[in-house]
Amino acid sequence: MNQPATQSDPTPKAQVETPTAPVDTATGTAPDYHALVERLRTSFLSDRTRSADWRDEQLAALKRMLVEHESDFLDALGEDLGKPALEGWITELSYVTGEIDHYRKHLERWMRPRKVSTPVFAQPGKSWVQAEPLGVVLVMSAWNYPLQIALAPLAAAIAAGNCAVVKPSELAPATSALIARHLTDYLDPASFAVVEGAVAESTALLRERFDHIIYTGGGAVGRIVMTAAAKHLTPVTLELGGKSPCIVLPDTDLEIAARRIAWGRYMNAGQTCVAPDYVLTDAETEQKLLPLIAESLERMFGKDPQASDSYGRIVNHRHFDRLAGLLNSGTVAIGGRTDRDDRYIEPTVLTGVTPDQPVMQEEIFGPILPILRTDSLEAAIEHIRGGDKPLAAYLFTRDEAAQERFLAAVSAGSVCLNDVIMFSAVPELPFGGVGESGMGAYKGERGFLNFSHGKAVMKRSLWPDIALRYAPYTRSKFSLLRKLR
Ligand code: NAD
Repeated sequence: MNQPATQSDPTPKAQVETPTAPVDTATGTAPDYHALVERLRTSFLSDRTRSADWRDEQLAALKRMLVEHESDFLDALGEDLGKPALEGWITELSYVTGEIDHYRKHLERWMRPRKVSTPVFAQPGKSWVQAEPLGVVLVMSAWNYPLQIALAPLAAAIAAGNCAVVKPSELAPATSALIARHLTDYLDPASFAVVEGAVAESTALLRERFDHIIYTGGGAVGRIVMTAAAKHLTPVTLELGGKSPCIVLPDTDLEIAARRIAWGRYMNAGQTCVAPDYVLTDAETEQKLLPLIAESLERMFGKDPQASDSYGRIVNHRHFDRLAGLLNSGTVAIGGRTDRDDRYIEPTVLTGVTPDQPVMQEEIFGPILPILRTDSLEAAIEHIRGGDKPLAAYLFTRDEAAQERFLAAVSAGSVCLNDVIMFSAVPELPFGGVGESGMGAYKGERGFLNFSHGKAVMKRSLWPDIALRYAPYTRSKFSLLRKLR
C-alpha cells in the first residue's frame, strides 16, 4: 500500500506532438500571430477595456452569444463528446453564463480601490491597492469541457479588463469551430480573437509575448507552455489534472456515497478533471459499495449504458485505446465492455487493484473506477501523500475528527467532504491546482484577481515635509524614529 502512485496526466511526454509550421487554410500562407497580438495590444493601449461599462458590455455580449446559439453549442458538444444535452447545458453553457452573471453583479465593487492603512511615519498620506488589467491574455483550452474551459477563463479575463486570444482545443473540433464562428461577432473584434488549430498553431502562438497565459490540459504540455512563457517573463495559470482520490470510511451513508461517486466518475464518460479517479476503502466497505454502485449505474443509464441518451463517449480512438489498455489492471467487478467503433467504454469498476498497476500510474480520465483497499484513514492518507498533490480530494465520513485530520493532512487544489465535484459550482470558491495539479486559480473574485495586477498606490501630501528621514542621520532622529515605529 505504501508504494507511491505516479500521478502523471494522461498525455505521456512520449505522446507530446512535435510541432510543424501553421498554415492559414484560407490563404495557404503562414498566419501572422505577431500582427494579431500587436493589434489586440493596440486596442488595450487605447484604454477602451478599462471602464466597468466596457467590461460589462463584453460580458453581456458573451452571454448573448451562448443564449442565442444554445442549441448549436449543445449539438457541437454532442458531436465532439456524445455529451447529453442536459449535461452540456449544466456543466458548460449554464456554468459559463452563471460565471458571467456573477462577474457582472460584483465587478464594480471588485474594481474599487482597496484602502489600506498608512503608518504614522508616512502621514499625512493615503494608501490603496488598485486592480489594473494586465493586457493581452492567451487562453489555451482542453477538449473535455471544450466550451466551459475556453470561455470561463475568458469571462474572468474580460472582467479584469483584458484583451484576449482564445485557442480552443482541436480535439473538440465542432465546439472549436462554433466558438471561432461567433465570438468576434459578439465581442469587440479589436480586442478579442480566436485561433483554431493544433500543436503547430499553439507553438507559434506561444512564441508571442502575452501578458498572461492560462493553459488547461495535461502537465507535459503545461511544461512546454511555462517554458515558452518564461522567455517573455509572462505569468501563467496552469489548470492541470492528476489522480483525485476518494476515501470512503465505513461509517458514511454508503448508498449516497455510491450514488455521488458514480455520478462524478461516469459523467462525461469519466473525462472530468476533478472526477474521483480512484476509491480508497477497506475490504468490507468495498463489498458493500459494489452493489450500490451497480444499482446507481442502472438507475442513471439503464441496463445497457451504450443505449442510454445520458451517457457520453470517449473523445477519440487514441484515448479509447489508452483506456482499453487500463482495463487489464485488477479484476473487472462492474462493466468492462467496450466498442471501439462507437468509442464506448461501459462504466467500469475494478477491484483487486494494486498501486503498481497501470491504472494507478496515470490519471484515468475515462469511465473506469479502481478500488484500492486500505484498512484505515491513516493508510489512505499515507497513500495520497506518497504521490503528487491532486487537483481534488474527497472523503466520505460522518466522523468530524476524521474530516479535520483529512483537511490538515491532505494537500490538494480543492477538497470536498461527503460529495464530489460540487465544490466547482460555488462561484466564490477558487478553482485551481497545487504542485503537479497546477498553479494559480480562477472563478469568482479569484478569477478577477488572477487576471489583474494589484497596483500599490500611495498618495502623500506635499506639506509638511518632515526632515526626519533625510541625512544627516543624527542620534536624535534615530531615537525619535524608533519611537514612531
Ligand atoms: P488537449 O490535448 O486539448 O491540449 C490542451 C491544449 O494544449 C490545446 O489547446 C492544444 O492545442 C495544446 N497543445 C497540445 N499539445 C501541444 C504542444 N506540444 N505544444 C503546445 N501546445 C499544445 O488537452 P489534454 O492535455 O488532453 O487535457 C487533458 C488534461 O487536462 C487532463 O490531465 C485533465 O485533468 C486536465 N484538465 C484540467 C482541468 C482543470 O481545470 N484543472 C480541466 C480540464 C482538463
